[in-house]
Amino acid sequence: MVKQYNITLEDVPKRWYNILPDLPEPLPPHTDPETGESRLAQLPKYILGECLKQEFSEDRWIDIPEGVQDLYAQAGRPRPLFRAKLLEEKLKTPARLYYKSEFYSPTGSHKVNTALAQAYYAKKEGYERLTTETGAGQWGTALSYAAALADIECTVYWVRAVYKWKMERLNFMKLYGSTVHASPSPMTKSGKELYDQDNDHPGSLGIAISEGVEHAIEDDGAIYCLGSVLNHVLTHQTIIGLETQKQFELADDYPDMMISCLGGGSNFGGFTIPFLGEVCRGEKDIKFLAAQSEVAPNLTGEYRYDFGDHAGLTPMLKMYTVGHQASMAPIKGDGLRYHGAAPILSLLRHHGLIDTVAYPQDEKHVFERAQMFIRTEGFLPAPESAYSVCAAIDEALKCKETGEEKCIAFNISGHGFMDMHGYTEVLER
Ligand SMILES: *Cc1c(COP(=O)(O)O)cnc(C)c1O
Repeated sequence: MVKQYNITLEDVPKRWYNILPDLPEPLPPHTDPETGESRLAQLPKYILGECLKQEFSEDRWIDIPEGVQDLYAQAGRPRPLFRAKLLEEKLKTPARLYYKSEFYSPTGSHKVNTALAQAYYAKKEGYERLTTETGAGQWGTALSYAAALADIECTVYWVRAVYKWKMERLNFMKLYGSTVHASPSPMTKSGKELYDQDNDHPGSLGIAISEGVEHAIEDDGAIYCLGSVLNHVLTHQTIIGLETQKQFELADDYPDMMISCLGGGSNFGGFTIPFLGEVCRGEKDIKFLAAQSEVAPNLTGEYRYDFGDHAGLTPMLKMYTVGHQASMAPIKGDGLRYHGAAPILSLLRHHGLIDTVAYPQDEKHVFERAQMFIRTEGFLPAPESAYSVCAAIDEALKCKETGEEKCIAFNISGHGFMDMHGYTEVLER
């Protein structure tokens, strides 16, 4: 039994897939709120020209620049697709389980796939600095890494509640040469307002986004980079699913069900969108399941226009949202704490193509499932990825009851080497 399916470096896809032309209806455009100045008019002040072009592109395929292809190779792509044979045996399930290994990443997550592209475009467009926010710290590290390779500066606004306990990740970002501020910070107007009320304010992803955006608007040499939610980010991430499609050809198999964790939607989208495209075009029949937390179950929220950030600096996006100022309890899978789901995925959910499961704030069940995976397959998933693993195991156990020989593919968006204390705290409680 072959355990690993991989393609050669030459076979790594050279184009990203843009699902916009294949969606069941046109994507509702990003818009402006009814009052206040135009957020859309501000976009070019903080989003890269190339990324803005891609955001609204109707081209089904977007060429990956040769420079970015080289960076993908440098970052270790392609990443193998594994058959989880040992886990299947342990579970005694008739289901066939496969997982994609985005944990083989220099910084620990799939986020390098878009970070490398954005830093590359930023350098080409003549910017000297990148600004961004980070929640769990994975995106901040990925962009710091990409900025270092592009030889460009990087400032990261990091949600204080997480900044305070992830010392290794802070040092990792600094090692790449980034400047890191706990958010809300006194460095920006939107941060200072909250910081002055409480200089130990725990912050949120939405607040940190406001700070990163404001910094980029105020500073001409700087451009803001977003690590999830927007169309172009999901498009860059399709490298994951496009590789996976080729790997399933090698495996002579095809998924009946695809699973991944979903915060803003970039790893879920990257993994599934090439397959969702096939379903939209009527070529395939696949179920899609997003694993979420009950503290941020955005896919079960309302489908409506909402801001992408806390302060309302961004345009309004039509998406499933729990509200841009919703407060969310802290969890170890911090990357899943975001109020909205990417517009592309929201539209597809609206059309009934994406199901969701949300796990309780107490992450014991999720981490116990991840522990089963660690003890059989040996890899340590990031706390966020543990939700994907958990949902896959739960589905595989359902198959055991029904006897269904389903093919289940799940994505492991990152590794948990820097999150050990999160696991031990929950599992040893
Ligand atoms: C950021 C992150 C997530 C959640 O973000 P998405 O945009 O929903 O993918 C999940 N897993 C890992 C490892 C992450 O770094």
